[in-house]
Amino acid sequence: MTGLRLEIDFDKIGHNARQLVERAAVRNVSVTAVTKAMLGSTELARVLCTAGAVALGDSRIENIERLRAAGVGRPTLLLRSPMMSQVDRVVASGSMSVNTEPAVLSALATAARRAGRVHDVMLMVELGDLREGVMPDQLHATVQHVVGLPALRLQGIGANLACRNGIEPSVENMGDLSDMVDSVEAAFGIEIEIVSGGNSANVDWALGTTAIGRINNLRLGESILLGREPLHRRALPGLHTDAFRLVAEVIESKRKPTMPWGRAGQNSFGEMPRSEDRGDIWQTILAVGRQDCDSDDLTAPPGVAVLAASSDHLVVETRDRMSPGDEIRFEPGYSALLRSMTSPFVTKVGLPAEA
Ligand SMILES: *Cc1c(COP(=O)(O)O)cnc(C)c1O
Repeated sequence: MTGLRLEIDFDKIGHNARQLVERAAVRNVSVTAVTKAMLGSTELARVLCTAGAVALGDSRIENIERLRAAGVGRPTLLLRSPMMSQVDRVVASGSMSVNTEPAVLSALATAARRAGRVHDVMLMVELGDLREGVMPDQLHATVQHVVGLPALRLQGIGANLACRNGIEPSVENMGDLSDMVDSVEAAFGIEIEIVSGGNSANVDWALGTTAIGRINNLRLGESILLGREPLHRRALPGLHTDAFRLVAEVIESKRKPTMPWGRAGQNSFGEMPRSEDRGDIWQTILAVGRQDCDSDDLTAPPGVAVLAASSDHLVVETRDRMSPGDEIRFEPGYSALLRSMTSPFVTKVGLPAEA
């Protein structure tokens, strides 16, 4: 067993996905399950499909292509607006894509015509979080543009909140989204099939509201994988929050002072940390670093406190001396999970080798 590893419990992930799919279904909301935190893992995709996800979403075309190649039996959604340089790949993947830019839509239409295909599109609307989205007063003009491109099919309108500025879904912004969908349908005489209200930050709102309006889809990643809603990182009732564990190995453990000595400049990450003198402590070093995880996003077990991290060392305080070879298990948050999934130095346990 290699020292640095991410232990993954797919039964717990499957349970979380099934719970969320069932709770959303009560409100006629379908779930597009998001695989990007796990590099479009086909094993994860299999579990999510079994749990009842109607579609799979990922932000990277490479991950979408992996899912398609594995023959997942669900539609896929590219969650990030296509790069101009990748429109042919996006069309060839057979995936729906989210879009906001007329130039990209035109390029997708040209690529689709060239390939003899029709490409499905979800237009994203800005609702105040200030990441992706067409400004509301530009929505009709953008719909007009899509409708004028026969190689494109406008399948959905969506919005994304909470990712940049932490803006929460509310009766107001979700109501605005529903109103915009109604107004597009009335103005263009078309039907918008998918109204995708948001990501995991929408779970509490969607499951609690009496005004779901036109919203009939959510795109869920973190809430399935970590069992939490991301606005306050509260555990969702009945869901597992421990499907992932990052396990790291002790390489040094010594009695050391809490105060460094010598003249201090910047550390290797341009920071000038300040220490508080608490006398001598058991300082333990683990063989894991910022290359492998986000050290600020690890929850340590009782009796262990994270003090600092550099590229390859995680410095923690422990109650007692530990022995080299001992292991400590951390609960990764979303950011730590993303980074440990993408680090080739972290062995993934529970994940079958991909073809
Ligand atoms: C990542 C992403 C999601 C999923 O977000 P979670 O918070 O993990 O549920 C949904 N929509 C878009 C556009 C995304 O980029």
